[in-house]
Amino acid sequence: PHFDTLDPTHVSEVFTRKDYAWETCGVSSNICPNISIPELKDEEAKARWWVDGYLVPCQKQLEKRPNGKTVHADKMLVAGLLAAQSCRSCKTCTSDIEVFAREWSKEIDKAVVKSPVKGYVVDIAPAPFDDPKAGIILRSSDDVDFRYKLLISLSSTSFKWTFALPPSHGEGGDETKEGLHVLQVKETALVLESILRLCHPASIRKPPVLELDAIKRVYLATKKYGMEEVEKIVRSALVSPRFLAASPLRSFGIACALRLAAEARIAATATLAISVEDWEKYLLDLEKMSGADAFHLQEYHRRCSKAALDIAHGDVPETLGEGFIWRVCRTDTSVCPVTDGPGFRGLKWWIDGYLLPCCKNLEKRPTGKSVEEDEMFSAALRKAQICPECNERSFVDLKKYAPLFGKAIDEAVAKVVLSFRLKLQ
Ligand SMILES: [Zn+2]
Ligand SMILES: [Zn+2]
Repeated sequence: PHFDTLDPTHVSEVFTRKDYAWETCGVSSNICPNISIPELKDEEAKARWWVDGYLVPCQKQLEKRPNGKTVHADKMLVAGLLAAQSCRSCKTCTSDIEVFAREWSKEIDKAVVKSPVKGYVVDIAPAPFDDPKAGIILRSSDDVDFRYKLLISLSSTSFKWTFALPPSHGEGGDETKEGLHVLQVKETALVLESILRLCHPASIRKPPVLELDAIKRVYLATKKYGMEEVEKIVRSALVSPRFLAASPLRSFGIACALRLAAEARIAATATLAISVEDWEKYLLDLEKMSGADAFHLQEYHRRCSKAALDIAHGDVPETLGEGFIWRVCRTDTSVCPVTDGPGFRGLKWWIDGYLLPCCKNLEKRPTGKSVEEDEMFSAALRKAQICPECNERSFVDLKKYAPLFGKAIDEAVAKVVLSFRLKLQ
């Protein structure tokens, strides 16, 4: 569904409230510059950090996920607060951002319900395989002809492929079409196209995008034709950041099916971002794994979870970095209280708002990301508001601390090794 988020008829009410920090900030415009947004019915200028750090990122997200939750997500709230740190007056406006987001999110949900659904336009890129100067036609198993300039593309690479043989050696015999020999191959058009693109000299530097579903068949074809260079590209595509972020269980399953140990280990680590409890959402990916592989992966999760919690429950979180506000706050404990943490005593807002939620998250998703995600800061930022001294620095310090904590977790988890047999019995 399409939804114009800046349409004034959708946003007028929310955007015209005048007491938010980004509307009223009195700090000089060198430090906290203003900007006006002509698309808004409300012509009053807004603080630039708010527009760049919250409003615009929200609009971008809304294009992908047009619903109220998008602008009220903790991630967006924290992004706004991060931008606000540039101004000494705006930097503590956690609750303003939250109130605004809640109101805006309601408006968006109302607007989306009214918005008509538009269709999708699928754009298929024109292939380079219609070259009139081609030397050969390769016909896929599903009868798609690829005109291929054999000499240019293959002679400049080191690939020795069946294509290099005279056409009469191919499976298609002596058939010709428009004066070109037709070579019938066993691969489907999808696989053939992937391979031909990968064979192109330019793809060594900039590999074409391979879809995860095609990788298995393309990999098997590269093995069959002895295309070692292309095989390497396909293997690295299997564990590319894009796939690991979107579908690590599927990457893992494919790596297992192809018995690629190195790729299986990389993918297994990426699966730590998905709690075992949520695996049921990925049944199709799991069904493609052998029972043994699924068992070993679950076992791996259990051991990683223990390794991560050993770190989080011990005194490591207290020893990372120095000078953080939750260690140096001088405010009286009647205002800024102390409590028992899992491994040491510390400020209550920090332990209850950050450390304990992190432990809970790590139990299910034992990876550094679990403590680094912006979402993890929101509870602590809210609780820190009880102490003016902590509130002033809570955000900056959490943001500095989280990567240190995340790294300690990742280092502990990296010592856990996935059991993986190269050959299935
Ligand atoms: Zn300001
Ligand atoms: Zn404090």
